Amino acid sequence: MLMKHAAIILIVSMLALAFTGCAGKPVSRVSTEKIEGSSLYVKKVENMPDDFILGMDASSVIAEENSGVKYYDFEGNEQDVFVTLAESGVNTIRVRVWNDPYDEEGHGFGGGNNGIETAIEIGKRATAAGMRLLVDFHLSDFWADPGKQMVPRAWKGMTIEQKTAAVHDFVRDSLKALKKNRIDVCMVQIGNETNGALAGETTWFNMRYLMQAGSEAVREVFPSALVALHFANPEHEGSYENYAKKLAEYEVDYDVFASSYYPYWHGTLDNLSKVLNGISARYGKKVMVMETSYAYTAEDTDFNGNTIGDGGNVIKPYPFTVQGQANLVRDVIDTVVNGMTDGIGVVYWEGTWISVGQNSWEENHKLWEEFGSGWASSYAAAYDPVDAGKYYGGCAVDNQAMFGPDGRPFESLRVFNLARYGNETEIKADAIEDAILYVDLNGTITLPETVNAIMNDDSRQPVAVKWDADEALFDLMYKGGVATYEITGEADGLPAKCTVNMIEYNFLQNHSFEDGELGAWRVIERGNADQLFVESKPTDSKTGEYHMHFWSAAKNSVDFSLEQDVEGLEAGEYKFTISIMGGDSGAAEIYAYALVDGEEVGRAEMSITYYGAWDTVTVSGINVAEGQTVTVGISVKCEGAGNGAWGKIDDAMLNSVG
Ligand code: CA
Repeated sequence: MLMKHAAIILIVSMLALAFTGCAGKPVSRVSTEKIEGSSLYVKKVENMPDDFILGMDASSVIAEENSGVKYYDFEGNEQDVFVTLAESGVNTIRVRVWNDPYDEEGHGFGGGNNGIETAIEIGKRATAAGMRLLVDFHLSDFWADPGKQMVPRAWKGMTIEQKTAAVHDFVRDSLKALKKNRIDVCMVQIGNETNGALAGETTWFNMRYLMQAGSEAVREVFPSALVALHFANPEHEGSYENYAKKLAEYEVDYDVFASSYYPYWHGTLDNLSKVLNGISARYGKKVMVMETSYAYTAEDTDFNGNTIGDGGNVIKPYPFTVQGQANLVRDVIDTVVNGMTDGIGVVYWEGTWISVGQNSWEENHKLWEEFGSGWASSYAAAYDPVDAGKYYGGCAVDNQAMFGPDGRPFESLRVFNLARYGNETEIKADAIEDAILYVDLNGTITLPETVNAIMNDDSRQPVAVKWDADEALFDLMYKGGVATYEITGEADGLPAKCTVNMIEYNFLQNHSFEDGELGAWRVIERGNADQLFVESKPTDSKTGEYHMHFWSAAKNSVDFSLEQDVEGLEAGEYKFTISIMGGDSGAAEIYAYALVDGEEVGRAEMSITYYGAWDTVTVSGINVAEGQTVTVGISVKCEGAGNGAWGKIDDAMLNSVG
């Protein structure tokens, strides 16, 4: 179907040439040969089809340019950003369309003010650079996502029959306008992240009418374009299957079941491929990642705080560097190409949305209000007074862009070209993993001599580190009671950080497995794991050199507890803390627990997700009377997925409270 589509594009392009008289000039600026000389490390994605969609959502570009933003090429020359995207291997531009993102006086709501006129402007420039357009109808007057699917003002109070006709006509007329401008539309989304709601409708019984009406309009105007439906949260077990089943039952006509994938929240890539592959196998749909992105820095650059920064209880599987950003994109592409039978593309979300000014919030605020270059303007109150109209401001994803605040592209943008060919440069350190120490008040503070370097190929290597810690700081840490300190340092020429947590006396022995053997720990095997032992591997330890390691290939063979008894405690309240990381768990039941004289008094659920994503939990409220025995431990039971469940357990602490 896509091959046929490519042929149609060729004919359309030739017609366009005939009309404009630009005979002889190559139309497409999309790179077709490997970009040489890049410093970016990119492992080749094998088997990538020629027509694989390498997309960029560039919805904010017009508003950015109206605000004074200039975009540059890799040499620092000002250049049409769409040409730079095409030259970097992007072959498809995604653009969102809102029905009417303006108030009665004509003030834009922000987020690019993307009515159909803006989409036409973006589509013309994308087409001129040889890229195809993927149109994302939100069917709302402003942002639509899993938390919000508001009905456009003009459709308020309509019956479902009227609204169905309105969706059809709106999509048809919008697409006709794009067609009239000779824009090369390859795919159309009916709704954005429609997890159970669309245009104010909250039942699948009604939503399917709107989806079907939109689909029919696409077939009428662009018969060779694909119709996509788009959802979020692949990590919610069974939700995608539920959506696909409903769509099949209601016989909604669509081609592509698309998902957002933000690694901070959306589970592992293994899970994503399993879930989407299931949909394509059972329902015969093409699948793709419609949105993904990753931070190159934790810093904000536009005076409006970002969704993702230093903190937050979210998963950050790559360092926040330009290389880390490229590694995420490469791995998502690899997952869609090689982990899915009918995976057709990956679209990066808003790699061109950068700060509109360098000086102050006030200066930027003026531009966001006037040109709609922030996520929302105050005028959005006319439609969404409780959220956008109240919390309006700038860009919350500027640290996930592929251009710097100065408008110059990062090397990571070239991942779209290089993923096809591979660019395995010299392996070197790209960032240093943070070190964490827990030292009880009676203990000795020994800062690590080595830390983990995260290499540009995403492997880990221990490297020597030098800490900025003098006598005075050690004195403070020893005398300051329970407190947390951040120590900076340098390793392999890169900044390093060690967090020292001074904690209450730890009543556990061999708490970080640094004895190199089980010691006071006891293993209770209920399964039959291939590997279950204390391992020496600093790169996989939370702190120190050793941790408890497990791995097993066969299904359901990981099933054990690891525990330790503590006797002779003073009466009082205690808490137990432990950490685990790992992956390929399949269905799993993992928890920390505490027993007093053999009776369970507390439990805390845990999970393993991704390499390096430590899950730390605390079982609180362990009340002990004189003479009682406390048993603390972790129970791990995994069905196993992929090559078998694996994990690392480290840093157990039993502290008194108060
Ligand atoms: Ca920001």
